[in-house]
Amino acid sequence: MAITANQYFQQRFGCKLYKLALDGGMSCPNRDGSKDSRGCIFCSGAGSGDFAEARAASVSEQIEAAKGRVQAKLRNGKYIAYFQSFTNTYAPVPHLRALFTEAISHPEVAALSIATRPDCLPEPVLELLAELDRVKPVIVELGLQSIHPATAAFIRRGYPLSDFDRAVSCLHALRLHTVIHVILGLPGETERMMLQTVDYVGRSGAKGIKLQLLHVLEGTDLAPLWRAGQVQTMELEAYARLLGRCLAVLPPDMVIHRLTGDGPKRELLAPLWTGDKKRVLNYVNHYLTEIGQLPG
Ligand code: SF4
Repeated sequence: MAITANQYFQQRFGCKLYKLALDGGMSCPNRDGSKDSRGCIFCSGAGSGDFAEARAASVSEQIEAAKGRVQAKLRNGKYIAYFQSFTNTYAPVPHLRALFTEAISHPEVAALSIATRPDCLPEPVLELLAELDRVKPVIVELGLQSIHPATAAFIRRGYPLSDFDRAVSCLHALRLHTVIHVILGLPGETERMMLQTVDYVGRSGAKGIKLQLLHVLEGTDLAPLWRAGQVQTMELEAYARLLGRCLAVLPPDMVIHRLTGDGPKRELLAPLWTGDKKRVLNYVNHYLTEIGQLPG
């Protein structure tokens, strides 16, 4: 059975780790015009970093501000500096080195987590990540969402599956903990297709996965399609059943970094049940326990 991120952090770091969501001021090739200017169809203007600190502040200032938000929960734990918004390797290497070094130099930061795209990991960036990993562990998060070309085209992902394969293989060779983002419930996908994606991730060499269901956010190109009834979102019960099947195809040592997800409440159009995080977690945990698939 797969393990939880908390268990993985306990095993690796000997304590609980809390994420500090930071904004490195990056852009994204899907937004700056180099591949597209509209972004992925589900992406809000915040570049999937809706909870990150203000991008104008320095990394150290952001760390202190983010610490303030999670300090009440902190019990014998340390922090992960989490560069979440946009594509966090999409900048010249000297700039990335300065940014990430500032983050890992903080004494309470135990690890660095970098969210990026598989097509934004050229050799010099990979070398930098390996160099940083020798100072403090580096976790790399890659947005895959689906292995299916038709879905990738529909969501305007902007890179082929071969880029993902290459990136995971390079990160694996460097022994970096790699986490793959998958979105369940993407338009046009059957359950079989979603399970194929999850199975592919399980066999890819990645060590972790984040499963999230499709959200419709105000201001995205998905919103008018949803309003026109051309896109549907999942119900909680169906989502929990699907999660059970996804977990069953993953290898036992896969680290589950996320099973749900919630968009920023002020922009969330659907499904609104995701706004009640406590109810969602209770339902999902109860269901997964019943079928013997609760990670951990
Ligand atoms: S790659 Fe990430 S940041 Fe860029 S448009 Fe897609 S979801 Fe948004």
